[in-house]
Amino acid sequence: MKLAVYNDNRVAIAEGDSLFDVTAAVPGISDGWPPVFMSRLISNWRELEPRLRDEKLKAVPFSIKGVTLRAPVPFPGHVIAAPANYKKHVGELGARGVTKAGNSARDIGFFLKTSASVVGCGSPIVLPRGSKRRFDHESELAVVIGRRAKNVRREEALNYVFGYSCLMDITMRLEPGMPAEERPTRKSFDSFTPIGPFLVTADEIPDPQSLDVKLWVNDELRQSANTKDMTVDVAELIELVSSVMTLNPGDVIATGTPEGVGPIEPDDNVRIAIARVGEMTLRVTEADEIAPRQF
Ligand code: MN
Repeated sequence: MKLAVYNDNRVAIAEGDSLFDVTAAVPGISDGWPPVFMSRLISNWRELEPRLRDEKLKAVPFSIKGVTLRAPVPFPGHVIAAPANYKKHVGELGARGVTKAGNSARDIGFFLKTSASVVGCGSPIVLPRGSKRRFDHESELAVVIGRRAKNVRREEALNYVFGYSCLMDITMRLEPGMPAEERPTRKSFDSFTPIGPFLVTADEIPDPQSLDVKLWVNDELRQSANTKDMTVDVAELIELVSSVMTLNPGDVIATGTPEGVGPIEPDDNVRIAIARVGEMTLRVTEADEIAPRQF
């Protein structure tokens, strides 16, 4: 099943280019801030899935083209992220990759991005106005947790996955001679974690380690990889993270980027596509006002 959140806290099941509104089957949707209804839906999935399916039978499908897509998990409890996480397949280049020796999540652990940085593809990526810094795209498979997970061994880890989505980990690059801001600062500007277009339930993706991941800026292909070349795979990431913290339904793990990271600028269109998971395009803009603290 492909779940979408659109307009003002509406929930739909997506099929092709059609949406079936199932909002009436999702409890707690008008409770205001924080918008945690998707995390709660995931948490109570066994009970609520049949209600969603019933609601879909009553729904009149409509085109996805006229709606504003939001992140399918609008307010995850945590956005956990792996550092660069791909080795190039062994070929004429050897086994070289973007994950430098000693720099994978296995070696240095994970980091966090703020939930405030999460947006859907109906919104732009907003770069800070007046910045001279470089801002990069990173294309990543997002894992959405389905059940509370603590000290989960990798052999069992995929049982804790609710589903998958596309994620861009937008990043302000470190530059020589400038103060070295921590990763959470550089990666947590509003809109720096686009997720979407759908949350695809794990039954549709039995093997998350066989998916082509691609990213284009305008029409230029910048990143192209397959999740089989992840240095630390999804199951090991869950083992690693859950050894530190309790993962809860709706938590998101950004699984790290392959090679090809590059800059984005206002007026660019950034498109990510992950096989079986989906495809989304975001426009890049610049903030309306200059922040009091410049980066
Ligand atoms: Mn990343």
